[in-house]
Amino acid sequence: MAGEKYVYDFSEGHKGLKELLGGKGANLAEMTRLGLPVPAGFIVTTRACQAYLATGHNPDGLDAEIDEHLAALERTMGRRLGDAEDPLLVSVRSGAAFSMPGMMETVLNVGLTDASVTGLAAQAGGNERFAWDSYRRLIQMFGKTVCDVPGEEFSDALEEAKKAKGATDDLHLDAADLRALVDRFKRIFAKHTGYDFPQDPREQMRLAMEAVFRSWNAERAVLYRRQERIPADLGTAVNVCSMVFGNLGADSGTGVAFTRDPASGSQGIYGDYLSNAQGEDVVAGIRNTVPLEDLKRLDPKSYEELLAIMAKLEGHYRDLCDIEFTIERGKLWMLQTRVGKRTAAAAFRIAAQLVDEGMITLDEALRRVSGAQLAQLMFPRFDLSADPAVLTKGIGASPGAASGRAVFSAARAAELAAEGEDVILVRRETNPEDLAGMIAARGILTARGGKTSHAAVVARGMGRTCVCGADQLEISGTRFTVNGQTVAEGDVISVDGTTGRVYLGSVPVRPSEVVQYFEGDMVEESTLVDAVHTIMGHADATRRLAVRTNADTGEDAARARRFGAEGIGLCRTEHMFLGDRKELVERLILSSTESARNDALAALLPLQRADFVDLFRAMDGLPVTVRLIDPPLHEFLPSLEELAVNVAVARERGEENAEEAQLLDAVRRMHEQNPMLGLRGVRLGLVIPGLFAMQVRAITEAAVQLAGEGLNPRPEIMVPLVGAVQELEMVRQECEQIVAEVVADSGVEILIGTMIEVPRAALTAGQIAEAADFFSFGTNDLTQMGWGFSRDDVEGAFFWRYLELGIFGISPFESIDRDGVGRLIRIAAEEGRAVRPELKLGVCGEHGGDPESVHFFHEVGLDYVSCSPFRVPVARLEAGRAAVTSEDSDSR
Ligand code: ADP
Ligand code: MG
Ligand code: MG
Repeated sequence: MAGEKYVYDFSEGHKGLKELLGGKGANLAEMTRLGLPVPAGFIVTTRACQAYLATGHNPDGLDAEIDEHLAALERTMGRRLGDAEDPLLVSVRSGAAFSMPGMMETVLNVGLTDASVTGLAAQAGGNERFAWDSYRRLIQMFGKTVCDVPGEEFSDALEEAKKAKGATDDLHLDAADLRALVDRFKRIFAKHTGYDFPQDPREQMRLAMEAVFRSWNAERAVLYRRQERIPADLGTAVNVCSMVFGNLGADSGTGVAFTRDPASGSQGIYGDYLSNAQGEDVVAGIRNTVPLEDLKRLDPKSYEELLAIMAKLEGHYRDLCDIEFTIERGKLWMLQTRVGKRTAAAAFRIAAQLVDEGMITLDEALRRVSGAQLAQLMFPRFDLSADPAVLTKGIGASPGAASGRAVFSAARAAELAAEGEDVILVRRETNPEDLAGMIAARGILTARGGKTSHAAVVARGMGRTCVCGADQLEISGTRFTVNGQTVAEGDVISVDGTTGRVYLGSVPVRPSEVVQYFEGDMVEESTLVDAVHTIMGHADATRRLAVRTNADTGEDAARARRFGAEGIGLCRTEHMFLGDRKELVERLILSSTESARNDALAALLPLQRADFVDLFRAMDGLPVTVRLIDPPLHEFLPSLEELAVNVAVARERGEENAEEAQLLDAVRRMHEQNPMLGLRGVRLGLVIPGLFAMQVRAITEAAVQLAGEGLNPRPEIMVPLVGAVQELEMVRQECEQIVAEVVADSGVEILIGTMIEVPRAALTAGQIAEAADFFSFGTNDLTQMGWGFSRDDVEGAFFWRYLELGIFGISPFESIDRDGVGRLIRIAAEEGRAVRPELKLGVCGEHGGDPESVHFFHEVGLDYVSCSPFRVPVARLEAGRAAVTSEDSDSR
């Protein structure tokens, strides 16, 4: 595009321009605007990078613009880039819109050449050591990051030089040593590139800038983005910043700092300082740093100034900031700041502290924490007080803490688990054949693959702890080696699915204090619990969505209620057909006469009634949605294969059993090719006379009984799998008759509604609403039928591939597919409400507890979400966040 501005001076930008200038550039500009001491410089935009990556060369006009800004920079600094007498040196730094720590490149000291290295020494008061140290750093960084020279060649040469000198620290190398090292580095450079280290400063700068552009597509950067779900086409900005020197002597140095502790959230500054060093040394851990407090002694003036700047930054960003700084001969320079990453616990503590300090509002505090963070705090964690040995670290792919014996095959996992052992399944990577082992294991550890690998997707789907991509693991047969340690089958290891750490031996697990708090247990004084309490309180006061739970027993219901559930959105009655009642259900299915069937139903009635009494009692005063029986009845019968074998064997022996043969007959008759699409839900109710009627009677009688005790039961009867209004009308009529008869004048009120989980129901919601008091979206089935995916079959079989191909960014069973399934929900909500404005709308699929999905349900105007008891607090928090989230907040 002609005339586009590709280059911004630090004084031209601000923190709102992250997308264009990258986070680093936008914040350098912001600090410049605030009048903080930032070395002068300019930023080449991410759009220039996008253009470069698309075409392989700089877009028209970019080079001229860079020349202009460089000339202006030279005027400001009173020096020319690479000048032989008094050189201006610059750093060329990457910086994308989302922070990608350590993923991309930076080159320092650009502009140094054989000629200007002497000028630099002279300008530094004859400090030759400093000049040659800077030059060897440039050749090293430039060689490695711009020209792909293997980094070890340089670091090995540096080690050799130190050894030759008997030195332990590169500070012991003097000017002559470093000068010799520069010669050595140049030879390494020429050997690998086939040409000499470039002596034209402008050429150095150009090559470094292009290398930064290209680093956007480096393999590790691509992988990282995929894991963090950062779009692939954003590109990185390039920051050109005049150099300041922390390696000028003892009165110089460099450091990093946080305005609060990013691990715990405690107030007070945290940081590390390294004297006589250049920035990258601190991060690289080349020499031992000292705590930031030591700077108070080393350079009190800079220390005070730094504290004042940090306070100013916190006040300005109203959040925890992390910074990078350099001191050049007693003068402090700011080289970077950003709103700092933090742990989940720190996020809650800091948000609550900032509210106390009057720096942010409660709304803002709510925006700064997330349901994912709260969920993390609710998992049990390892108690690390005994300092267990860390074996290695991978990617925390599915949170939780699990210890067990290492096993190396799915079969062995299943075997040992059946003997009652806790096992951790260790695989190079998993595939669909490992599924049984994954289910049997307490935790899963893989050497390959990221957050979207098969192991990660499946583990998250079933709530299993998983660490993946621990690429230092060398697995062979039934053992693995890592960092010189060997773990054989049967040895105990522990995996932390939150941090990705893997420990040797069993690590004790500590329950979550946040869960204890939700449970109403006494918790010792805890700043974390206080913070959670404050923020949850505000979420509850703010949210428009109610939060219910999915629960089938009084016990689950009571627990969910302690977690803040405001009713039951889904009680699955089929669970009530299992266990010792299976026999009754078999009788019901097999009965060939009406009276036999009625006997079976009559036997089930009191059992169901007792279940409902428990449930309504636990949820007294709150709505309880009971779904009439949903799964195909053959699920309650023995498996076809097993039964067929039994009958055949019996026949062989002449011990034929009429009952078993009859059962086999029934199982054969009811066998379905696609049970998910077969005789289930409302279809059962219409085909098997008396089945729904029995359930409705049990529900109503239970309610009337409790009303008689002075309680306030509020049942809602929900008909599953409706696709046509006629289905619902027929069931409704039957229900209403029974309800009217049983309720009589007891004062009990019962709503009758339907699930919307078949696409046809969503598309004819206007008709269906005529017969429904409420809709509850069954997002699992709606997703299955909307996509035509059978969840049990596809998730383990090929979802990882779909994720890898980018067909979806996250499994549609984890987070609602807004465009497709979400559109069905939108249509149904709008058309249903148009016919019946008071229609209650809720969600009872698993998406009800997924943070992203909760925001969607808020947007489309539903009344409540329902989720498993454990997810209730997460849903409450996210419902609150949905109500306060504004477009401009950056919650990432
Ligand atoms: P990263 O994104 O990996 O942190 P940076 O671009 O921040 O990379 O640079 C790495 C290090 O180089 C930083 O620690 C910083 O202190 C140092 N650095 C960058 N630019 C300059 C400069 N102009 N003068 C002195 N040090 C610099
Ligand atoms: Mg940095
Ligand atoms: Mg369903």
